[in-house]
Amino acid sequence: KRTHTRLPEWLKTPIPSNDNYKRIKNDLRGLNLHTVCEEARCPNISDCWGGSNKSAATATIMLMGDTCTRGCRFCSVGTAKKPPPLDVHEPENTAEALSRWGLGYVVLTSVDRDDLADGGAHHFAETIIKIKQKAPTMLVEALTGDYAGDLAMVKLVAQSGLDVYAHNVETTEALTPTVRDRRATFRQSLAVLAAAKRFQPNLITKTSIMLGLGETEEDLWAALRALRAVDVDVVTFGQYMRPTKRHMKVEEYVTPATFELWRQRALGLGFLYCASGPLVRSSYKAGEAFIENVLK
Ligand code: SF4
Ligand code: SF4
Repeated sequence: KRTHTRLPEWLKTPIPSNDNYKRIKNDLRGLNLHTVCEEARCPNISDCWGGSNKSAATATIMLMGDTCTRGCRFCSVGTAKKPPPLDVHEPENTAEALSRWGLGYVVLTSVDRDDLADGGAHHFAETIIKIKQKAPTMLVEALTGDYAGDLAMVKLVAQSGLDVYAHNVETTEALTPTVRDRRATFRQSLAVLAAAKRFQPNLITKTSIMLGLGETEEDLWAALRALRAVDVDVVTFGQYMRPTKRHMKVEEYVTPATFELWRQRALGLGFLYCASGPLVRSSYKAGEAFIENVLK
């Protein structure tokens, strides 16, 4: 395996600039809405917020605070056994702000809240219900945790009126114990994705895998087949980037050609669509992809 200390060219990104991006950024002012796109300085912001069509513009919002009860070895989110309580006004305020922002597609995600009896599922579902009331044309994707395997909570979220249910397996089954928090397992994540589809068959289900963690081709094939076997519709691949020296190191910077190869392989296995590239995150241009592949 090749290990680089310097970033390859294809991971360097230009400063965002296009008219639609600037307009959407301006509209955000004063709404008190915090996007992962801005806060994580995501390199894709002009692709997701920009483009020619505002009704396809995608942004990601983090719910339920910024402190997680888990500690995955690739993730820079802060951890505590008992994070601060939920903000009961968040579902209403988020829905109100989103409806005024007028985005096409929103990805709602959250930290994992193992400290709460329902893992925050009611809060998540309430947010989705309120968004659909205030902005009925907005497409909603929920990117949730595994609810510690509590499928009743998956059902609650799956039946809240959302369009896409996403849950990330993050890596292959073999690497899961070294990459994700020990409470997360590959099989449990598969069960979450299977349950979302079973409880609400018209949902699009989606997952994301990071490359560059040392996964083998064989294990990656096995992961994709296992995902198709439970009818997961969409998969995305992106490069693992090490947030700090305390996190797992990058085993390999996977080339754009290899990302394209895995995209083709995924489509060959029957995934409806696949975003794959060094800078791709699971929410990358999700609105555009949904409109092109599902609503067409
Ligand atoms: Fe935002 Fe996700 Fe797009 Fe990044 S990839 S800009 S976080 S929607
Ligand atoms: Fe990060 Fe999610 Fe793992 Fe929490 S559960 S540490 S937010 S990847």
